[in-house]
Amino acid sequence: MFQDTKLLPPDPILGLSKLYQDDARSEKIDLGVGVYRDLSGATPVMKAVARAEANVMAAQKTKAYTPVDGAPGFGPAILNLVFGEDSPVLSSGRAAAVQTPGGCGALRLAGELLNSQGAESLTLGEPTWPNHIPLLSAAGLKLNSIPYYDRDANAVDFDAFKAGAAKLGPKDVLLVHGCCHNPTGADLSTAQIDEIAAMANAQGFLPLIDTAYHGFAKDLDADVYMIRKFSAALPEVLVTYSCSKNFGLYRERTGALIIIGETADSALAVKSQATSLARRNYSMPPAHGGAIVAEILSNPELTAMWKDELAEMAERVRGNRRLLAKTAQDFGLHNRLSFIAEQAGMFSLMPLNEDQIRIMREDHGVYVVGGGRINLCGVNESNVEHLIRAYKAATEA
Ligand code: PMP
Repeated sequence: MFQDTKLLPPDPILGLSKLYQDDARSEKIDLGVGVYRDLSGATPVMKAVARAEANVMAAQKTKAYTPVDGAPGFGPAILNLVFGEDSPVLSSGRAAAVQTPGGCGALRLAGELLNSQGAESLTLGEPTWPNHIPLLSAAGLKLNSIPYYDRDANAVDFDAFKAGAAKLGPKDVLLVHGCCHNPTGADLSTAQIDEIAAMANAQGFLPLIDTAYHGFAKDLDADVYMIRKFSAALPEVLVTYSCSKNFGLYRERTGALIIIGETADSALAVKSQATSLARRNYSMPPAHGGAIVAEILSNPELTAMWKDELAEMAERVRGNRRLLAKTAQDFGLHNRLSFIAEQAGMFSLMPLNEDQIRIMREDHGVYVVGGGRINLCGVNESNVEHLIRAYKAATEA
């Protein structure tokens, strides 16, 4: 069977991590892998998570299977968090949640669901998180890309994005990032979100909102503006939700597919299709992370603790954005990197071509992902000047 099987190259981002680890230079800077890191470079377990985990373990009496939609309490807890407890979308029963193995599991399940229900195409803004492409095409969907970001202006190219979306009809799906766009850090404004909602209403296409950084842009309410707006304005919306970053549960593989249907009955019907697809694949998600999230969100003390920790992480990344932009100013780059201070989430695209990215890495030990994506968590007071010097040297060479 496998005599002729070819060895695949390593994942480019993981390959970059390996190069970084093997680099002996003390001034090296890792702006690669997309996880939150604190000042010491660690990705710690959140205190609220550790406390909830202890409670979950103390109360656990069995390892018997959980329901196919996930750990008991997880779905309602995520729906309350996303929509707010007194949301009409929730009281009408129009929203349903299925726990999935991370945001990746949610995307793959969404893709399979859409494919099984006759979606003709799924459209993505360019650039997007690279894993969107294999995840959604593996589900059998035909993918199209439309422009999203203007690399010269370092901003969303909303006219081009709208022109692409204007071609979509009732059998089409538009993937939008809920907040903290990966890799650009450039989000749609509320006015632009309203415009896309009006287009979806008029044209009938279905939005799929991928949300992997809830709480990292402004705050927990502001960051779900798109989800709430689309759900109020449109009959149907899908949301893929990751708890990897905002709960720090990466390896526990915790996420959700959220279905907003036209009626409570249709939400239930769509959920039944999704759980049936899950059953045919991984059967049910790992329970542990879902139980932790349910415990945090059902315990007011842990909820408050988690919200504080999340707000602190988000503020640290915003502070790093300001630090980078200011240091660039101080080093005579004027406003060339000022846009970074205005963007949201962990990532931005540094204006760099592939050769300049290589110079940053080889000559200066500054590790930037192909395409120019930087993780702002890797920036701090003690390395920012080296980073800006490297950027100047690479771009002015
Ligand atoms: N969507 C986006 C845009 C992401 O950046 C990520 C994680 N990097 C995910 C989805 C999936 O997250 P996970 O499977 O780790 O929960």
